[in-house]
Amino acid sequence: MQQYFVDEELHSGQQITLDDDVIYHLVKVLRKDSSYTFRICDDSGKIFHAHLIDKNSCIIEDLTGENNELESDITCILSLIKNDKFELCIQKLVELGVKRIVPYEAVRSVVKIKDNKKLERLRKIAREAAEQSHRNLIPEITEPADLKDLEKYKSEANYICYESETNIADIGPSSSITYIIGPEGGFEDREYENICRMGFESVSLGKRILRAETAAIYMTSIIAGKCQ
Ligand code: SAM
Repeated sequence: MQQYFVDEELHSGQQITLDDDVIYHLVKVLRKDSSYTFRICDDSGKIFHAHLIDKNSCIIEDLTGENNELESDITCILSLIKNDKFELCIQKLVELGVKRIVPYEAVRSVVKIKDNKKLERLRKIAREAAEQSHRNLIPEITEPADLKDLEKYKSEANYICYESETNIADIGPSSSITYIIGPEGGFEDREYENICRMGFESVSLGKRILRAETAAIYMTSIIAGKCQ
């Protein structure tokens, strides 16, 4: 069942006008009419059933009462890597339940986010993945960060995934968790040491060298599996 997000608080019985792009998707792409029940999530995370009542508005029906969010707030600081792989990570990490993704300009990142257009595209991918996975919120894609910005994204528990580490990630329960994944070329030595000095615990994801996108998805799966 298709889900859409709206930027307002809703209540059952209310009639609302839907954005043109939602109407276009429902009516032109999915070719649905007033008999089709879909889901609307409001800006406080409440998910309702709804159906069209005319060509651009719908009625809000019963509250589903669903909470599809993880118990912990997860932040992934994801080094900028090649576009298609970075976009794949955004989509998969949203499906897996992260709350925030910080595009990190690592020392060895060859890709940069030069303009807002790129950031808007990433946020659109996050919104669509949140709709498809029936999230109660759209995860935040922050402004690009560099090393000095990382402190502000720390959580109760903080990890840096490092392929030369031997200590296998033993992620304990925490109300909030932040972890950082390096770029295709890995962390530069001094960069790694600075991040550890900020209080990020160095953890291994096993003996094999994973691609950045594999490491991001795998680390998120480990954490999400512990706080469903
Ligand atoms: N040194 C790597 C190489 O030789 O290809 C380059 C970095 S790896 C492609 C990209 C990132 O994925 C790393 O910076 C690290 O954050 C993460 N990563 C990959 N394998 C890992 C492992 N076994 N344990 C922990 N992190 C890993």
